[in-house]
Amino acid sequence: MDFNIAVIKGDGIGPEIVNEAVKVLDKVAAKYNHRFNYTEVLMGGCSIDATGVPLTDEAIEVCKSSDAVLMGSIGGDTTTSSWYKLPPELRPEAGLLKLRKSLGLFANIRPAYLYKELKAACPLKDEIIGDGFDLVIMRELTGGLYFGDRKTVEENGVMKAYDSLTYDENEIRRITVKGFETAMKRRKNLISVDKANVLDSSRLWRKVVEEVAKDYPEVTYSHMLVDNCAMQLVKNPRQFDVVLTENMFGDILSDEASEITGSIGMLSSASLSETKLGLYEPSHGSAPDIAGQNKANPIATILSAAMMLRYSFDLDKEADAIETAVKKALADGYRTVDIMSEGNRQMTCSEMGDVIAAAI
Ligand code: NAD
Repeated sequence: MDFNIAVIKGDGIGPEIVNEAVKVLDKVAAKYNHRFNYTEVLMGGCSIDATGVPLTDEAIEVCKSSDAVLMGSIGGDTTTSSWYKLPPELRPEAGLLKLRKSLGLFANIRPAYLYKELKAACPLKDEIIGDGFDLVIMRELTGGLYFGDRKTVEENGVMKAYDSLTYDENEIRRITVKGFETAMKRRKNLISVDKANVLDSSRLWRKVVEEVAKDYPEVTYSHMLVDNCAMQLVKNPRQFDVVLTENMFGDILSDEASEITGSIGMLSSASLSETKLGLYEPSHGSAPDIAGQNKANPIATILSAAMMLRYSFDLDKEADAIETAVKKALADGYRTVDIMSEGNRQMTCSEMGDVIAAAI
């Protein structure tokens, strides 16, 4: 099959890690008889340098007319880079916010997977980790507290700040459908996280989840309060498959879930819209401290490309092939410097891409 991919290499290590993901995708295309057509798009600091803005309207159009967007990362050193002397709306991150909005990306998926070869990096005890864990956080990305009305006023000489948390049933329904669809592609288990003992928005959330669940009888689901979920993630992460939650809870829980895997260079992410069009990028930033040295870990970006195949192109077999190739590279002892440990073989960024592509 033929797919058009908008490629945003971005700044810092972005170009290095995206090149490796493209190398792996090309191998998948050759083996499974697909054609991936890449169009490069500027975003972030490189776009500011070239055009004066972090994302042009033309760049947005290319992304909109593609089947998916594959991204490295954007931004520079926030204390020294001249990009951060610009007004906020012209800084690198403004480009990403604009892109998310333009593409209607309301669902964010962040997997947290513990590779048994990297167990030593996990801060949890062995008896908790067991054979490892494999969960995803499905976070609503465009509603809730971060997008509600806010104001700060002075009342009777006392400063007072308001933030409002609003969800309508349609916003909840569309993310819940994504959550159940994702569960169907995985182990068919979903835990919806809320604070229904206190918040009206959470009570509505629960009601909608129960309605949507009726369409997915194969998925086992339950509800969990967010404070309990924060505790359960470190107490028994193996119980989770898909964790579905609203924007702020997801922001916090997804960082917690990433942290317990212990290796930032391994974590992929996807942001999805109502259509098949999605944005796929590693969870980490542009790592300006190691940019241009060919030593970044490309695995998070390679796994993001696997998510693109799974969620935007419905190429599950091909996505599995990438994930299996990553596991094989680790099992064979190949490591980039960030995950290096004694007895293993240290690779550059491009060598790691070669090893994984060869294992497809
Ligand atoms: P960072 O994730 O870029 O780096 C944190 C640390 O992890 C650094 O020591 C870095 O070398 C290391 N690291 C990150 N990715 C790695 C990889 N693939 N391989 C090996 N080591 C890796 O976070 P930061 O330093 O806080 O941010 C740097 C820039 O990235 C900032 O401009 C920030 O705004 C931006 N950022 C962008 C995104 C995005 O594009 N979505 C996300 C987060 C941060």
